Amino acid sequence: GLQCGIVGLPNVGKSTLFNCLSNAKAQSANFPFCTIEPNVGVITVPDERLNKLVELVQPQNVVPAVVEIVDIAGLVKGASKGEGLGNKFLSNIRETDAIIHVLRCFDDNNIVHVDGNVDPIRDKETIDTELQLKDLETVESRLAKEEKKAQTGGDAKAKRLVEVLHLYKDALVQGKSARSVQLNDLQQEAAKELMLLTNKPILYVCNVDEASVVTGNKYVDAVREAVKDEGAEVLVIGAAIEADIAELDTYEEKQLFLQDLGLEEAGVNKLIRTAYKLLNLRTYFTAGPKEVRAWTFKNGMKAPQTAGIIHTDFEKGFIRAEVIKYEDFIALGSEAKCKEAGKMSVEGKEYVVQDGDMMNFRFNV
Ligand code: GDP
Repeated sequence: GLQCGIVGLPNVGKSTLFNCLSNAKAQSANFPFCTIEPNVGVITVPDERLNKLVELVQPQNVVPAVVEIVDIAGLVKGASKGEGLGNKFLSNIRETDAIIHVLRCFDDNNIVHVDGNVDPIRDKETIDTELQLKDLETVESRLAKEEKKAQTGGDAKAKRLVEVLHLYKDALVQGKSARSVQLNDLQQEAAKELMLLTNKPILYVCNVDEASVVTGNKYVDAVREAVKDEGAEVLVIGAAIEADIAELDTYEEKQLFLQDLGLEEAGVNKLIRTAYKLLNLRTYFTAGPKEVRAWTFKNGMKAPQTAGIIHTDFEKGFIRAEVIKYEDFIALGSEAKCKEAGKMSVEGKEYVVQDGDMMNFRFNV
């Protein structure tokens, strides 16, 4: 599955956040060496649409969409040079598809900061630098190889790669991340295989105290200002308070607590949805009396590919898809009524599936 990695300096609240995301107390107990093994949580994606479908269809079984989150602890200054558990963590990050960067934006004298005081911008730069240094290493060693190849001939593709590597190198030596480099489509294609750490989509999470969950604070303002050119999303979450909420037993209790704080929903729910988007994921539904299920697909996938997520045979033998828009289904109340009203379309192999489509695949076995 697709994975988001949580990174940040020690003591900024990564584990706290991870635990309330995955409600994973029991799960982390399964990793006795949790400072070495990354914690992987399989997290349900909250989706109001699924709840509404379940109310209407009353199925025997419900399966929500999930996203995997990995708690990547131990990234410290010097990691790119192997400090701490450096290289291991960097390779864990390489395997993820997107990054959630947690920044400490709360004051608390009882919680030691590795660099003495609270300063999310400095912290962000510390982490960025480690990732950039690692990328620079990757880019330079690759450049040496590719330039040698280019000298002994080399096609247009190889030349393009060299061009891209130079662009990245220029940015990285200036302390910029690979994602800041603007590439055209062909260059982007060439860049894909490099899997650079600082090219992954990123989301910043400002971990604040209880009093700042709605308003933010001076640290949050500083973060927003610092990342404004990155086009990255910034979320404000109070990890400690969210952890308290996660401990509550009932939905009603949780809602009351959230209302007291001035929040409409748990910050972690917003975080999961944002991560899902960051991974460029979308949801389609299947709904029948046996099961209502949310399926995850990559934005842009065509009908046969999305059918293949259910079963490879569905893709191989794909004939057509019957599609009902979620809103129509909710408005009319059943598949039969949608059909009657002409709200069911029949789509072929080229149909690009849309978020919220309700799919019924027809295929040969
Ligand atoms: P990690 O090293 O980044 O995984 O950080 P932890 O999640 O272990 O948190 C470090 C310490 O900070 C723990 O004692 C947490 O209880 C505390 N902490 C985490 N988030 C907050 C917060 O929002 N406010 C306050 N005051 N403490 C927090």
